Amino acid sequence: MRIVYEPCQMQKIASKYRAWGKTIGFIPTMGYLHEGHISLIKQAKKDNDVVFVSIFVNPTQFAPNEDLDKYPRDIKRDEEMLTKEGVDFLFYPTVENMYSDNFQTYVTVDNLTKVLEGASRPTHFRGVTTVVNKLFNITKPNKAYFGKKDAQQLIVIKRMVEDLNIDVEIIGMPIVREKDGLAMSSRNKYLNEKERKDAICLYKSLQKAKELIDNGIKDTQAVKKEMENVINAYSIPKIDYININSLTTLKELEEIKKGDTLISLAVFVGKTRLIDNLWI
Ligand code: AMP
Repeated sequence: MRIVYEPCQMQKIASKYRAWGKTIGFIPTMGYLHEGHISLIKQAKKDNDVVFVSIFVNPTQFAPNEDLDKYPRDIKRDEEMLTKEGVDFLFYPTVENMYSDNFQTYVTVDNLTKVLEGASRPTHFRGVTTVVNKLFNITKPNKAYFGKKDAQQLIVIKRMVEDLNIDVEIIGMPIVREKDGLAMSSRNKYLNEKERKDAICLYKSLQKAKELIDNGIKDTQAVKKEMENVINAYSIPKIDYININSLTTLKELEEIKKGDTLISLAVFVGKTRLIDNLWI
């Protein structure tokens, strides 16, 4: 695997592969890789001639009070994992290489970013859409892979790609979970032993929602109430939000609509904010 640090060098390499008629699969990440990331890479390996992965902890998507400085990093371990998966190129830029002192251009998606994660983290998606746009311009992928774990991110990126006629196919991939159901996340590293046990409440509440819906319950308030009860039975977690929205518009739903429902939640387990979701 070759590691590339400079955006212009990565761009030249990508252009060469495109000129040779090779297809490029791309997976943007913030590193500290786990099986969730690896599942995206494995799919990209199947679908494309070459696979590019980026590792970049993007400062513009973190608010000042968030965990930018302590976000977990282990580049040596990440490199080993990527090499083992047969990734062709790792794009690993510095912050200075991505954002010059004179940087002043941002990409924003309007309505979809005002709810859910966007309501709790108002500057987050502007950072995400801007950096993903830059990464697409740098790596020139035919296909880019995103996890459904970050459901709203996937929906927002799809909107941006369609709205701005970006020539890339966005592939959404299923959530990979630990044995007990906790969605894999780099941030799970922050959890101590007791918090790790309690963190299971997100998955348990989604399982409860699924069970209710399978039994014919359609009223979203009733589903949300039951999910809240599940979480409140644990001692540490504090709910940030539980929401049930249309998958296409992200508008809140009064009734579950099969095929167009996203149940999502964010919960503080101690100081760590975890998210999870279920696509109905
Ligand atoms: P991150 O490094 O957290 O920015 O994630 C990079 C990509 O991996 C994003 O598209 C995430 O949605 C995806 N991802 C993270 N965790 C998981 C997971 N547990 N299952 C599937 N995809 C994931």
